[in-house]
Amino acid sequence: MNTIYEKVDPLYPDMKVIEKAGEIIKSGGLVAFPTETVYGLGGNALDESASAKIYEAKGRPSDNPLIVHIAGFEDIYKIAEDVPEEAKVLAKMFWPGPLTMILKKSPSVPKRTTGGLDTVAVRFPSHPVAQKFIAAAGGYIAAPSANISGRPSPTNGSHVLSDMNGRIDMIIDAGPCDIGLESTIIDLTVRPCMMLRPGYVNEKMLRDALGDIAKDEAVFGNSSAAPKAPGMKYRHYAPKGELTIVSGNNDAVVSYITGRITDNPEGLRTGVLSSSGNIGRYPSADLVVDIGDADNEDLIAKRLYDTLRKCDEMNIDRIYSEEFDTPSLGLAIMNRLIKAAGHNIINV
Ligand code: AMP
Ligand code: MG
Repeated sequence: MNTIYEKVDPLYPDMKVIEKAGEIIKSGGLVAFPTETVYGLGGNALDESASAKIYEAKGRPSDNPLIVHIAGFEDIYKIAEDVPEEAKVLAKMFWPGPLTMILKKSPSVPKRTTGGLDTVAVRFPSHPVAQKFIAAAGGYIAAPSANISGRPSPTNGSHVLSDMNGRIDMIIDAGPCDIGLESTIIDLTVRPCMMLRPGYVNEKMLRDALGDIAKDEAVFGNSSAAPKAPGMKYRHYAPKGELTIVSGNNDAVVSYITGRITDNPEGLRTGVLSSSGNIGRYPSADLVVDIGDADNEDLIAKRLYDTLRKCDEMNIDRIYSEEFDTPSLGLAIMNRLIKAAGHNIINV
């Protein structure tokens, strides 16, 4: 398949490009588009054959449901039933923005879109290009992240191009995503409402909005039960190289990583995900990626997936990462990093 690739201005996109993308969706095709979290791989959420194509293009397991993206709060009533008061409270505080709500699905949403579930995930993104595209496409866009299943989520147009070229009809490239981590997910079909995936909207913000909330212990605690968001059970976000997270006091971490890089009899290619303050301290690594200042959590989140992809591009066999346990985004950042590492963490 020939993939149309268009660059647009993130704030003032060429409306001819947006209209063309809308037409592609209306005729059953797939378009990758930017959001403030990561790039999405969109199809018409109300058309089960479009959803089927999304699973195929990504190589995504069919029990892993898609998020339906809308371009206005009122559109929630077309795809969800029994919308509770909490949805309005959260929408007022966080929409448009990086929060996904799980609601009871309406009959207009095919089960192919919801991975067989009776619930539907809904989000109203804030990215201007996403909003214009969703509206031009009829208002209901099913979209998972626009990566091949298992690879790090795409946070700029070139990531999408490298995963999706030839697999989908069109890619809209509006440059890097602002946030760089997938949306927070909260389930509003249970009481107390339950946080299923950490993201930019953190636990404290949700508590301030709703009062008491629960958290899925399979994701936030030590329960070995299956996560309630089916996608959270897969080893996700992973680079090709073997990733190890090293946790502990800064000097001990640097010295442990340096030791591992130096002790490399097989001559493997090594890389380090380093905070800015440490980048000069790993001279023998083949690649040192600067993820940002240790206390600049917005920047670390924004760069995380790009740094993992950079390690792939440079054919790094062994990747060592410092720990980035920052106050408000640390949980979301480390949730992704720990999954990327397949829970391979060393405490020093
Ligand atoms: P992605 O768009 O790639 O970030 O994946 C969407 C995430 O939302 C996956 O982890 C899904 O399992 C989760 N999700 C989508 N719909 C539902 C639903 N109805 N109930 C629970 N989790 C959902
Ligand atoms: Mg994804």
